[in-house]
Formats: sequence, structure tokens, C-alpha cells
Amino acid sequence: MPLSSDRIAPAVPQGPWALFLDIDGTLLEHAAHPDAVVVGDELRSLLAGLDAQLDGALAFVTGRSIAAADHLFRPLKLRAAGLYGLEHRLTRDGPVEAAGEPADIAALATEIATELDSADIYIERKGPILAIHTRAAPHLLERATELVQRALAGLPEGYRVLAGNAGVELMPLEAAKGAAIRRFMQTPAFRGRRPVFLGDDTSDENGFEAVNEMDGVAVRIRPRGPTAAPYALADVNETLAWLDGLTRAGGQVLAGEQTSPERS
Ligand SMILES: [Mg+2]
Repeated sequence: MPLSSDRIAPAVPQGPWALFLDIDGTLLEHAAHPDAVVVGDELRSLLAGLDAQLDGALAFVTGRSIAAADHLFRPLKLRAAGLYGLEHRLTRDGPVEAAGEPADIAALATEIATELDSADIYIERKGPILAIHTRAAPHLLERATELVQRALAGLPEGYRVLAGNAGVELMPLEAAKGAAIRRFMQTPAFRGRRPVFLGDDTSDENGFEAVNEMDGVAVRIRPRGPTAAPYALADVNETLAWLDGLTRAGGQVLAGEQTSPERS
């Protein structure tokens, strides 16, 4: 679906609804290195407030590991799908269900680091996912993508390459945000609600499609190309202001006391 200029920020949806949030580029501005981003108290309390108002129907859906998300937002712990859905924590204090790590990813990481030979490239191993971050060296994104495509040929079937705004990742096929959202929607805190998903990158498109199919609200932050999301928000600041508006709209809307079948 081509991007049109008339996409607008979504109106506050009539509840009951559930909120799924990507982290990087959605709630937090990107940094050259993923460990360089910082979470302020304001964001922490905004999320804690939304989680309480939604009775726990809120989850991160991120490419980070859940451990990395917990570290970033400490001491706040939320429900989360990490590594694009390869990890889940379905309840706030429950265990993290994690995927295994094939041994060959470590060797691939070393091989690709040697080939790219740049201190501005950050190569991250996240369980069975290999992420090449090129935000600090955008001119190397194309070369990095070629190397990852080549590596794909040497892996067992069931892997794919996903190129994003500032990097390229090699990941198992089952790492998909849409599947993670569907899984949460079957759990008690989420069941019967309308999903709202906010994301900013290629890896979020699969989540947008799933949410569209569930008659939910898909919102792409800073859209630059084709997207399945019918709604847009300009940047992180606008996203945080929109979320803040939801908390101000209050428990009635969030809890669904004003239910309406109309899509606004
Ligand atoms: Mg993102």
C-alpha cells in the first residue's frame, strides 16, 4: 500500500483495547549504538500509568531481548515480546520463554565483522538473531546487506534477511511481530480487546498487518515508504504526546465503558 500524505494521527480509539509498543524509534530516539539510549522517568511513569489503566493489556514488541528491555526501563517490568517474538513474557513477573541459539551465528558474526572492518559498525548477537547496526556508518548498509544475504545461503532453511532503517538483520522465519501480537491477544489480559500497535520500521510491518486483520489500529511512526499502517505519527515526541493524551482521556476510554463499533 503506497504511503499517502493524508495519513493522520489516530483519534483515541474507543475501548476496550490493548496496546503494543515497539521501543526504538517509537518510544525512544535511536542512538548510534543501541546501548546509548536512555529512558527518562517521565516515560517510565507514562508507561506504568498506561499499564495500570489498561489492566495489564500492554506489551513491548521489540527487536531487543527482553533482558535488554528490562535493563533499559528498570525498575519497570512490563509484558514483552523480545527478539521480534522469539522471546515472550506473557505476564509481568512471569518467566521469559526464550528461543535457542544456533552455534553458527557466532562464527558468522566474526566473519562479517572481519569483512566490514569498520569501528563504526556494531554487530550484535541476540540469541538466534544477528544484527548489523550501520547507523554510525550508513554508507556501509548496502555492503552489510550483501554480506548477510550471502551468509543466508550457508544457513539451514528457516532464516530470512530483514533490512531496516539503520541496519540489517538475519533472523529465523518465526521471528515475526505479528505472531507475537496474536499470541498476546489470546492471553487473559488481552482477550476481547482491540489491538493498537505503534512501530517505526520494516520489522513492524508484519505487526501492522496482523493488527489490521484483527480490526485494530496500526500506527507507523515517521513513515518513509510503503506501509500497511493506516495511521502515522511524525516522530518520537509526537508519539509520546499521543500516548500521554490517552492517559488523560482516562479510564473510561481505556477500560471500554464508551464502547463503539465505529472506527475513528
Ligand atoms: Mg523500532
